Amino acid sequence: MKALVVDPGVAHSTRVEDVGGPDGGGVLVRVLEVGVCGTDREIDEGAFGVAPDGRDTLVLGHEMLGIVEEDGHGLTRGDLVSATVRRSCGHCLACAEGAPDSCLTGDYVERGITRLDGFAREQVREDPAQLIPMPHSLRTLGVLGEPTSICARAVRHVLAIGGRQPWAPQRALVTGAGAVGVLATMLLRLQGLDVWTASLEPKNEIVDALGAHYVQSGDGDLGDLGAFDVVVEAAGNAQLMADALGLLRRSGIACLLGIDGRDQTVQIPGRVIGVDTVLENRVLFGSVNAERQDWLAAVDALGRARERWPGALEHLIGLRVGLDRFQEAFSFRGGKATLVISDA
Ligand code: BGC
Repeated sequence: MKALVVDPGVAHSTRVEDVGGPDGGGVLVRVLEVGVCGTDREIDEGAFGVAPDGRDTLVLGHEMLGIVEEDGHGLTRGDLVSATVRRSCGHCLACAEGAPDSCLTGDYVERGITRLDGFAREQVREDPAQLIPMPHSLRTLGVLGEPTSICARAVRHVLAIGGRQPWAPQRALVTGAGAVGVLATMLLRLQGLDVWTASLEPKNEIVDALGAHYVQSGDGDLGDLGAFDVVVEAAGNAQLMADALGLLRRSGIACLLGIDGRDQTVQIPGRVIGVDTVLENRVLFGSVNAERQDWLAAVDALGRARERWPGALEHLIGLRVGLDRFQEAFSFRGGKATLVISDA
């Protein structure tokens, strides 16, 4: 069967290749669509990703929407599913408790990223415990399950950290209006927060449709918006990450979701970290991946968002192309690009 493969560490080695049938046990899933994100682009650039042990190639794809091909394990042929990305390291407390997103060793594997083949292939066999049912009512929005789960985990942690003391968050800022920025905006709106979403583009109609305030902003002028209870950095800009601490109100929480691997030094005013952060109980933290409870929250939130803002999120998927046109998907910058692998 056809699959999108890469030699991790070798820039631009991504290609469509025939791989064998789906191996191993588990539920047979026909892959409908796979979303492309910044991590896939980094792997394609040779900057990230690890092939499975004993191999040079990795099958890409970690944002999957698929359809179950056979009855069993509580699933019925025709059910729509997605699947978790990160799998247990097998020897730490967090993984033992079902939270590989908080793995303490770093020995985890991740579908399509780290030592485990991904979903950009015609069929895959998956452990039923890792499958996430997707309601048919979500239709093509199901492919947004994975990035939404990342944001759901972030929001869960923001609320857990904020909730360690009396707190009633009202104002949130999201920096970056790519898929993660927009999905974080959606989740914060569903939490009842007043949300400002900033990016460099002149406008963003999806952010407007979600009832958030869109702000076109260059680096450094976000202070004019006032202070926030929650900041989510989804632009992948290390200076903005440092700036987030200075944009917080008392007891405010800043969550970093983007990645910025540039070799650089960023600036932070001494009084922001040395005085305000202490005297105002502020927190800055990073969040990666998602566990099953976040996936379930994500699926629920996508359903609620679809009812509350009909048609809004569909526009987030700006390009759908076949597997052979993966290069177009990798260079696309107008929202989420997906690879359509088979018809529903
Ligand atoms: C994925 C996560 C993964 C992270 C680090 C992200 O793109 O969405 O599931 O944990 O990359 O590999």
